[in-house]
Parts: sequence; C-alpha cells; structure tokens
Amino acid sequence: MIYIFSLLAAGTAFAVYRNLKNIFGIYNHLSDADIHAYQTGQLSEDDRRYVTKHLGVCEACQQAMINHDPDEHVVESD
Ligand SMILES: [Zn+2]
Repeated sequence: MIYIFSLLAAGTAFAVYRNLKNIFGIYNHLSDADIHAYQTGQLSEDDRRYVTKHLGVCEACQQAMINHDPDEHVVESD
C-alpha cells in the first residue's frame, strides 16, 4: 500500500515538473543545433512541438530559423 502511494506521489511530482518545463521551456532560445535539427527533420515529436511553440513567441528565433542554412555544417553543443 505504501509502495503504491509513493509511486503515485512520484508520478504526480514528475507531471508537475513536466508541465513547469513546458510552460517555462518556451522561453529558452533555440540553439543552432536545435534549428539545424528542426530543418533537417531530426527532432523527436516533443522537441519539434517545443521548437514550433517557441517560434510562435520569439521573433529572434524566427529570424535565426530564416537565416540558418541547413546545408551548413553544425557542431553539436550540449
Ligand atoms: Zn528565441
């Protein structure tokens, strides 16, 4: 019983963490690597959704997306 309860608590904490990450995450600017991966279709569905959401609110990254040349070699950061 205690085991099930702690599992539920851990699940709830994780869901809260994910939601906070989703809400505040859109204010993190996209890296060149993110933009490159987006243009070349290498992002997971979650990451693509994040990039699309961020582009909707961030003019600087829209501009970076327009200016980025997908044929250019990008060195992975992170
Ligand atoms: Zn941005």
